[in-house]
Amino acid sequence: MNVEYTDAPPTEQQSGGANTMPCPYCGNLLPKGAPKCNCCDWTRQETETAEGKASDAVAVLLSIIPGLGHIYKGHKLAGFLWMVGAVPAGIFVLLAAFASAGFGVGLFFIYLIAVMLHAYAIDDWAVPVKDDEGEQY
Ligand SMILES: [Zn+2]
Repeated sequence: MNVEYTDAPPTEQQSGGANTMPCPYCGNLLPKGAPKCNCCDWTRQETETAEGKASDAVAVLLSIIPGLGHIYKGHKLAGFLWMVGAVPAGIFVLLAAFASAGFGVGLFFIYLIAVMLHAYAIDDWAVPVKDDEGEQY
């Protein structure tokens, strides 16, 4: 990416080339009809088969069973990991529930919410998996 500090406002740059378009993900200026962005993981195919937003809601609903929402979106490995993680989490919650006369059950909802948020935030499979930076569990 090429950052230039010129006197021309950025809009002029944009209108100057009528055959450019901003990347829908990162806003990087691309040649019109570009199949993909060279700054981020956006690909044209992904936005044209635009069922992405609906699948977010479905993924969240499916996350009632941890991992299912991820698998629905095509992230089989991530879904599997969440599902596996639910087992120790479930055991821990059971123990906590015994120890705290039932209150510990609420802990499982925290796990569930984390799964749902992740299922919602995660991109559909068209985007190659990057390392989850900023996820420190
Ligand atoms: Zn981009």
